[in-house]
Amino acid sequence: MDSLHDLPPLRDVITRHDLSARKSLGQNFLLDLNLTSKIARQAGDLSKTDVIEIGPGPGGLTRGLLLSGARRVLAIEKDARCLPALAEIENAVPDRLHVIEGDALQIDPLEHLTPPIAVVANLPYNVGTELLVRWLTPKVWPPFWQSLTLMFQREVAERIVARPGSKAYGRLSILAQWRCDAKIVMHLPAEAFTPPPKVTSSVVHIRALPSPRFEANQKILERVVAAAFNQRRKMMRASLKSICPKIEDHLHNAGILPTDRAEVVSLEKFCALAQSLEQSKKN
Ligand code: SAM
Repeated sequence: MDSLHDLPPLRDVITRHDLSARKSLGQNFLLDLNLTSKIARQAGDLSKTDVIEIGPGPGGLTRGLLLSGARRVLAIEKDARCLPALAEIENAVPDRLHVIEGDALQIDPLEHLTPPIAVVANLPYNVGTELLVRWLTPKVWPPFWQSLTLMFQREVAERIVARPGSKAYGRLSILAQWRCDAKIVMHLPAEAFTPPPKVTSSVVHIRALPSPRFEANQKILERVVAAAFNQRRKMMRASLKSICPKIEDHLHNAGILPTDRAEVVSLEKFCALAQSLEQSKKN
């Protein structure tokens, strides 16, 4: 087996290696290589980029990434049953694919990679949001990655790109849009997956900006946003009372009405609120 094009169809791979999907691992596989190549292309030109793929499974998206010209792919897979199938791909593209068995929440992949780095993944739904929040809140900015091209349940994708005033607007929208451009680039019907999930899925492309759109202390912004959206039905003066006794003064400084609910407050105003709180700590 010496080329990606000579590899057997994914359906055969799944049967041969007995990869019956496990719900506990969020396994909904993509078996159409035209589709996985299309998803890979949403990440842009990867020919000079190392790619991290979380959860390659039998390797549908992995093949799509390699076929689309990714320089190297580092794939982290928790399910050891998938490793023989992935080894077949590794053999077809010597030095371009490196598979690590393990939990993506526990592994730091950076030592294996050379920048620039992109993350592309059909994420397992049970750890998808947690991984995204980690990638969006590193200690230093710009982050280790240039872009994230990620499959989520449509509802999660809509929260990432939501604007103020919509029901989907919340913590994920602020974390993503503060320092990134984020857009939905594809929707996929449930039937695109084996087995089909209950919901529609969407691919989100997130590109890191060199610096934040508005200045704010990261820790304070994260705390304020978490508190505000934790009780999104409450007025801001009530939901943020625990953060600072004089919260009404800070809301005023940021141009936010004390009676506003979090879902109408823009990213710019959340940042202004974080700035005002930081200023008062310094004085
Ligand atoms: N990329 C494949 C595809 O598109 O067909 C599989 C995607 S499937 C939605 C999610 C994959 O993530 C599964 O292969 C599952 O075993 C793997 N997975 C689940 N939890 C994981 C974790 N914590 N770390 C790494 N991989 C994980």
